[in-house]
Amino acid sequence: MTETECIFCKIVSGEIPSAKIYEDEDVVAFLDINPTTKGHTLVVPKKHVATFLEADDEVVEKLIKASKKVGKALVKAMNADGLNVGINNGKAAGQIIFHLHLHLIPRYADDGLKCWPQGKYEEGEIEKIKDKILKAMQGEK
Ligand code: 5GP
Ligand code: ZN
Repeated sequence: MTETECIFCKIVSGEIPSAKIYEDEDVVAFLDINPTTKGHTLVVPKKHVATFLEADDEVVEKLIKASKKVGKALVKAMNADGLNVGINNGKAAGQIIFHLHLHLIPRYADDGLKCWPQGKYEEGEIEKIKDKILKAMQGEK
């Protein structure tokens, strides 16, 4: 998807309206149009980048800092008991809009939502997976 077609670039520029709750030089936050719970917010870097893994560290830092600020206000405003903070990265992970965004989802003690099912490792498998990841980590900054 090019930046000119990107729905979140259009929200950032104001071409498409949104319920904006935060804006600074680099980041905007607005309410998700189909909320998981009321107040579900998307925090978005103004500069188009498709995914978290492709974003510059500087962009990630700004996104996380703004998300913390917005998240605190969200919990207070919505009288929430907790907050899920998450980024879907890639189609297989549920990413639909390919402009990086962080989800802030207010949670309540009795909301009944379950995030991820828990699986199991076979005997010795966890060590093998750990080694695989450690190997991949070599060379990463
Ligand atoms: P993803 O699955 O890509 O992580 O999440 C995309 C999110 O964007 C979804 O939760 C969806 O409801 C939200 N969304 C999609 N289109 C719009 C829109 O035009 N405006 C707003 N505010 N949210 C949108
Ligand atoms: Zn975009």
